[in-house]
Amino acid sequence: FDQRDGFIWMNGSLVPWREAKLHVLSHGLHYASCVFEGERAYGGQIFKSTEHSERFRNSANVLDFEIPYSVAELDAAKQLVVDKNNFTDCYVRPVAWRGSEMMAVAAQNSTINTAIAVWPWPSMFNVAEKMKGIRLDIAEYRRPDPRTAPTAAKAAGLYMICTISKHRAERRGYADAMMLDWQGRVAECTGANIFFAVDGVLHTPIADCFLDGITRRTVIELARRRGIEVIERRIQPEELPNFEECFLTGTGAEVTPVSEIGPYTFKPGALSRTFVEDYSAEVRPKQQAA
Ligand code: PMP
Repeated sequence: FDQRDGFIWMNGSLVPWREAKLHVLSHGLHYASCVFEGERAYGGQIFKSTEHSERFRNSANVLDFEIPYSVAELDAAKQLVVDKNNFTDCYVRPVAWRGSEMMAVAAQNSTINTAIAVWPWPSMFNVAEKMKGIRLDIAEYRRPDPRTAPTAAKAAGLYMICTISKHRAERRGYADAMMLDWQGRVAECTGANIFFAVDGVLHTPIADCFLDGITRRTVIELARRRGIEVIERRIQPEELPNFEECFLTGTGAEVTPVSEIGPYTFKPGALSRTFVEDYSAEVRPKQQAA
């Protein structure tokens, strides 16, 4: 991934992609003092850029550091990288980490580094393809108790169990893994939130120990606009056979229907299709009135 053309924004300036490097003694690498974002630009505009910049700064605060750029500066920097790389539709990855000035658990005086990279990641709004659904494994690891880890932050350290779970799922022939929470209830996937549908109503777990995704909130808003009820509640894995449909939401996943979770099967149907299509329309920049 490090051998590409184009530019990466790093600590306030654009640098050639191959030159955006850091030292091996970076605190962020050793102690996971690192937070990041995942966003998408559609038609040259980043969807909900400001919400992502706010979450980015909040994630850093939870990890006890301050990103040295305001929300407005981050929004402008992200747009600059998208434009300078000549992308209209792409993925946007801001990342911030403690630098290499202090090599111990305590690192209050380390420099906070901030970088923004963008790369092509075609959105998958081929509805027919999506409606086949993906197959999910059930992960061995659980989302941690919020008293055990800073679960509301998009912190690099929280992704260790996601990578392990995703690798295990792929080894076993699945696309991804559904993770339970520390109490054994349905939580989310390794990089996306989860919704279920039955009798025309959506059910989704309460985001109290995992990321309350910006896509999750967008889908809840889209449902309200259509008058479709959304119930946020505790969902036990034993309830899975009662649901007709299931889909994932996330910046990368967008809205992705699910056909199987371990032994349970779902039939992507009218509600999944509605949200695939509504989300696809929602992310496109609105045409200015003539
Ligand atoms: N949960 C996890 C673990 C994620 O990595 C993501 C993707 N950022 C999400 C949920 C969905 O978040 P969003 O909709 O803000 O992309």
